[in-house]
Amino acid sequence: MSNTYTTFKAKSTIKSADLEHRRKINFNIGRYNAVIPQGKNQFTNLTLARERAKNIKWRALETLDQQLEQFEMNFTKRGGKVMWAQNAKEALDQILHICKEKNCKTLVKSKSMVTEEIHLNDFLKKNNIDSIETDLGEYIQQLDGESPYHIVTPAMHKSKEDVAKLFAEKLGTDPKLTPEELTLVAREKLREKYVEAEVGITGANFIISDIGAIAITENEGNARLSCAWPKTHIIIVGIEKVIPSVTDVGLFWPLLATFGTGQKITVYNTIVGGPKQTNETDGPEEMVVILLDNNRTTILANPKQRESLYCIRCGACLNACPVYKNIGGHAYGTTYSGPIGSVITPHLQGMEEYKHLSFASSLCGNCTEVCAVKINLHELLLENRNEAVQSGYISFGEKFAWKIWKRASLNRSMMNMSNGNIKNRIANNIFKGWKKHRGELHFSKKTFNEMWKERFKG
Ligand code: SF4
Repeated sequence: MSNTYTTFKAKSTIKSADLEHRRKINFNIGRYNAVIPQGKNQFTNLTLARERAKNIKWRALETLDQQLEQFEMNFTKRGGKVMWAQNAKEALDQILHICKEKNCKTLVKSKSMVTEEIHLNDFLKKNNIDSIETDLGEYIQQLDGESPYHIVTPAMHKSKEDVAKLFAEKLGTDPKLTPEELTLVAREKLREKYVEAEVGITGANFIISDIGAIAITENEGNARLSCAWPKTHIIIVGIEKVIPSVTDVGLFWPLLATFGTGQKITVYNTIVGGPKQTNETDGPEEMVVILLDNNRTTILANPKQRESLYCIRCGACLNACPVYKNIGGHAYGTTYSGPIGSVITPHLQGMEEYKHLSFASSLCGNCTEVCAVKINLHELLLENRNEAVQSGYISFGEKFAWKIWKRASLNRSMMNMSNGNIKNRIANNIFKGWKKHRGELHFSKKTFNEMWKERFKG
């Protein structure tokens, strides 16, 4: 039993019994659920839009090497720089190298799950660089010393009262401030940091290969400020985020907005194609894109799991998942939580350590139903279970139990040997784990085979 599994189980047990936690996240998810149907109305044929998006991502991933090289060629033409990082360490070293070159003491960053994946903030802190989260939700989480709780809404588990209390503790504000007043406090603090920062870091929602640019979607304008204010802009992005053409953005932007937050379109959508040009007045002097692999090519090499790379991180599968809604985002102990996290984490971080996530699912299929790009998430969870077993990550006890079961199931006389009472006793008293969260099993007194024989004897 791995440590990650033990921690996951312990945290899930606590969280699923925490009714206040459940109330808060159901309240916040409920607000999205109320507006998502309105966003969906903008599509004349939503199924077609989702299928088209899936096809585009399929094409992008099937030709990933060419797409990325085309992006690099076009992006570098306008003075941008592209770096390739095979793993988190390489990406961190590259970022540190740039920061040292720029004598960076303060860095502003916008919300990016990839930077969470490589634990960028901790790394920068160790290297005496002050890294400031500028997305309001991320800023709240950073103040509280917590990682994001949700891939779209980092502080989803906090009520407005929780945030007011946190600001009062950390920033000395009045604990009765309203959400609008709290936002103004954060804005004032963050503006100072933009002015100080030598480097800005953002993620990217899409890598557009035909024009060699990056598309960034956000609701607060903080990513734009992180891009444009500091003299150096670093973009760190997973290689799977590629889309072949700028014309695809017209489909992906509304899809991401609607499935993520129920908006028709997110408030700020930016395409950046390189550093400030000679005839331009604004923008960074230097722009570097770091293309991160970090085991994404392991998923790419797996024909069954490849589909999980189509994900546009809209978060809809998290909001729809009965497991996520009960245990919350932190119980997973991973960067990516919910159904998509349970699918990709065992491949990104190791099957042996994270295989349990694929078993922590009711397989209701709700995630597949709501996925913006129609990823067969519940089937991929099943596939993960299969791969875990095929890889030998199964306990001796379980292996032995299945062997006995197989033997008994293939042998009629063994199946008939014990009556219902004995089977009930074995199932309910020996396999006690079964009864912990479920009702008792009640086998019929006679087997089907015995009943069939009796019927035809008569
Ligand atoms: S798997 Fe689908 S629903 Fe889940 S975050 Fe990705 S695109 Fe959205």
